[in-house]
Amino acid sequence: MTRIVIVEDELDIAAVVQDYLRHSGYETEHFADGQSALQSIIASPPDLTLLDIMLPRLDGIEVLRRAREHTAHPIIMLTARIEEVDRLLGLELGADDYVCKPFSPRELVARVRAVLRRTAPGNAPGQDPREDAPGLVLDDVHWRASLEGTPLNLTRREFGLLQVLSRHPGRIFSFSRARLLELAYDDTVDVTERAIDSHVKNLRRKLGAVTPSHDWIRSVYGVGFAWEAPVDPAR
Ligand code: CA
Repeated sequence: MTRIVIVEDELDIAAVVQDYLRHSGYETEHFADGQSALQSIIASPPDLTLLDIMLPRLDGIEVLRRAREHTAHPIIMLTARIEEVDRLLGLELGADDYVCKPFSPRELVARVRAVLRRTAPGNAPGQDPREDAPGLVLDDVHWRASLEGTPLNLTRREFGLLQVLSRHPGRIFSFSRARLLELAYDDTVDVTERAIDSHVKNLRRKLGAVTPSHDWIRSVYGVGFAWEAPVDPAR
């Protein structure tokens, strides 16, 4: 059974979330402070953790940071502040997703399902990219890509972006994270959000020209974008 740890000090919220998750067939375990949650997460990582930020004893950001030194299991942050999202999803902290408070329990359960699906064995980042993006072939040596046998005439930057996105399906890339990656790639240019946005648009257009029925790059409002492989693996 899929085990989900809920770390939330507001007991009424925790109770509702637990109810919904149990009704959806998940096993749940609740912690009301960061310290005891962290101990449990490290001792026995669950399938997924829902982690509030404002917590007694150890706040959620610190729990996330320390947990990440021991386990890569999916962690969804519960936050009341949209300004925090960029940092939470960033390279430094590495949350898998976030849900803004107040949230509907139904929305939360949907998010849990989506994160579990994309992090399930076989969909994990770092595995064969063709598993995640059917029909997409990347030639890392010559920076060439093709989709369903059609060469995509990409610039080096578009290729880099495609490489990173397609190997982390479902993962949300904030503009600042994309910027960091771009900087790591080539620090001689000034990388602006606008420049990244235009690479994303061009890449989306070129992919869309081959597969008009599927939008590979999903925009995440106010945050960034994510790679979205087609749902049907037999597509
Ligand atoms: Ca709280």
